[in-house]
Amino acid sequence: MTAPTTLTVAVVGAQGRMGQEAVKAVTEAADMELVATINRGDDLRAILQRTRPQCLVDFTVPGVVKENIKVALGCGVIPLVGATGLSPDDLAEIKGWCEASGLGALIAPNFAIGAVLLMRFAGEVARYLPDVEIIEMHHERKIDAPSGTAVKTAELIATARAAAGMTARARPDGAFETFSGARGGRAAGNIPVHSVRLPGFVASQEVLFGGPGQRLSLRHDSIDRASFMPGVLLSIRRATTLRGLVYGLEHLL
Ligand code: NAD
Repeated sequence: MTAPTTLTVAVVGAQGRMGQEAVKAVTEAADMELVATINRGDDLRAILQRTRPQCLVDFTVPGVVKENIKVALGCGVIPLVGATGLSPDDLAEIKGWCEASGLGALIAPNFAIGAVLLMRFAGEVARYLPDVEIIEMHHERKIDAPSGTAVKTAELIATARAAAGMTARARPDGAFETFSGARGGRAAGNIPVHSVRLPGFVASQEVLFGGPGQRLSLRHDSIDRASFMPGVLLSIRRATTLRGLVYGLEHLL
């Protein structure tokens, strides 16, 4: 029989690279019970209704994740979402679903504690060095670009910079690019983001700040998907304390 303190967990996208790692981590955690694994083609709603987990860890793909969140909340299950590709409009809609259901949810573009710290430090630096560009590097099979982490990092920098009354200096905006995209795409605060997709990477990000006569770069590398699992387990342990939509693991640290 399940002990009252055992956290019951389902994982969707369980056969994927991240999903397999999450299944392993939950299975090995003494205070958790993996009650369901859901894969492409499975009926998520029926499985959640049958197995009644407290939370659903989602490592599926952009285009699928939003509907999964809706189904989970509809079943009374707390979504803990690692899958990326959600737009600001999606986040606003999901926030409304959380309020309507009275349940919390976590959307964490990066579960690696080191990457979350990088984002925090980037916000601090941007108060003094407002000129910044982001390079994010991922494995060649990542389908969305830029990474959710880069999007979130740019948002944090833009907010911190504006709060400090700092503005980036004008730089060529790409009108004279020899190749379209050479100056990267633009995220929040008009911050250039450059997305690299190559074998040999799991997930890396470098945030480059420049000032007169100086440079400062912050870099984080996930070299193994195990790097994300302490964050996933932390979010499971905190799931029932979430109120409304929580966007980013930093709110749980
Ligand atoms: P992957 O392609 O290896 O895995 C995705 C899995 O989802 C596949 O097994 C696929 O069959 C499954 N899937 C697709 N549609 C489904 C559906 N309707 N129902 C159930 N399963 C379905 O990808 P990955 O490398 O494991 O990454 C998964 C997601 O996690 C991506 O969005 C990626 O950007 C993100 N990611 C997040 C973090 C983080 O820390 N938040 C870290 C790494 C990757």
